[in-house]
Amino acid sequence: MKKALTTLALSLAVVLAMSGTSAARTQVEPQTALKMLNNQNRQFEQQVVKVADNVFVAVGFHGANTSMIVGDNGVIIVDTLKGPASAAKAMQAFREYSDKPVKAIIYTHSHGDHIGGAAAFMENGTPEIYATADFGSAEGGINKDVNPVKGKRNVRQFGRKLPPDQQTNRGVAPAGTHDTDGGNGFVLPTILVSEDGYKAVIAGVELEFYLSPGETDDALFVWMPNEKVLFAGDNFYSSFPNLYAIRGTAYRDVLNWSGSVAKMATFKPQVLVPGHTMPILDPAIAETALQNYSEAIRSVYDQTVKGINAGKGPDQIAHEVELPAHLKDQPYLIEFYGTVPHAVRAIYAGLLGWYDGNPTTLNPLEPRLKARKMAELAGGTQKLADQMSTALAKNDYQWALELSDQLKWLDDGDRELARSVKVQALRGLGAREYNAPNRNYYLSYANELESGELSEVWF
Ligand SMILES: [Zn+2]
Repeated sequence: MKKALTTLALSLAVVLAMSGTSAARTQVEPQTALKMLNNQNRQFEQQVVKVADNVFVAVGFHGANTSMIVGDNGVIIVDTLKGPASAAKAMQAFREYSDKPVKAIIYTHSHGDHIGGAAAFMENGTPEIYATADFGSAEGGINKDVNPVKGKRNVRQFGRKLPPDQQTNRGVAPAGTHDTDGGNGFVLPTILVSEDGYKAVIAGVELEFYLSPGETDDALFVWMPNEKVLFAGDNFYSSFPNLYAIRGTAYRDVLNWSGSVAKMATFKPQVLVPGHTMPILDPAIAETALQNYSEAIRSVYDQTVKGINAGKGPDQIAHEVELPAHLKDQPYLIEFYGTVPHAVRAIYAGLLGWYDGNPTTLNPLEPRLKARKMAELAGGTQKLADQMSTALAKNDYQWALELSDQLKWLDDGDRELARSVKVQALRGLGAREYNAPNRNYYLSYANELESGELSEVWF
């Protein structure tokens, strides 16, 4: 059923893409987009999943997963959710299965949705907290300089301010998570792992820690050699990976990411526990999923590099790169969270920076001057405005957006019309998106534009 739906959606995407309305690959009919997103919601319905005799995974208590491993005289927690309120609820659910004290906590990486609830697991005692020696390197440094705008883009990407009737999900996490206490329960790690394959016995449970740079440089995965359970952190979840986040991130080294996932596959896990979305309990599917995931990332990288070396710019390559046929329809590679075109652009910029090699773009026209010349080309500002309205009427939303972004600069243009067309075009695109960050961003931005929250510059 799920596969049939997905195939249908992809064929629809192809039809739309060929119809001349410049639709992006994650655009389908509105009802199909909603069905796909509703289907994806099953990946994070709140529940505790028993994945082995002594291993329990709490899914859907916040955006990410938290897990409990039960040992002889205590339990071990892998990842702690974003804040103490959600973490306490997950802990309460775990207590149905074991009331032993928490002996250790493991952070798979330093993203806030995995570390901010640790205090809720420390009600009796001070467990050791394991992380990599690089812990915290993921989002630091100069990124903080642009936190004001990253904050706004984060709100849009996750649809944090969308009214309930516009919310769907966040790709690999539910909408509407409890976030007001984010980070309040964070506790610094006490044991920093720098040795790949570091072995520990905690509460009688054998564990191995492997360094796995990918989504973040400070990631690790945890392997239970006896139970053959692998905790992947955020280098694997059920969606094409978010190789770039539109909230704004530094370059994520995708080759490392692909390599780390390939390494996981060599362990042939019986159970694969992702950082987000449901655990995979079928050993054959788990191994294949890891192999395919690694190959998908590697393929996007290789195709991008090939395009770069053929002298193509990011706009062209982003429209050309596709996942190989045998990977496209895999349920864990549908573009609910990351997208291939965004990955291409990130790889391009990560390897070469902003310049596309074309001397035309060395010093492009100032936006107002370009808009003036575009209006002249169209036969005047009014004609440009008419073209914009016609594009909207034909559901050619992307073109309507691009023309509204010309009209907005023109003193003799109807800026209110341009704003209104932009709002409607964004809602048209949003309704058709099954990529959750794109959808949330389109809809959030439309609401901001309509309410007048955005400045001149943004509009
Ligand atoms: Zn996460």
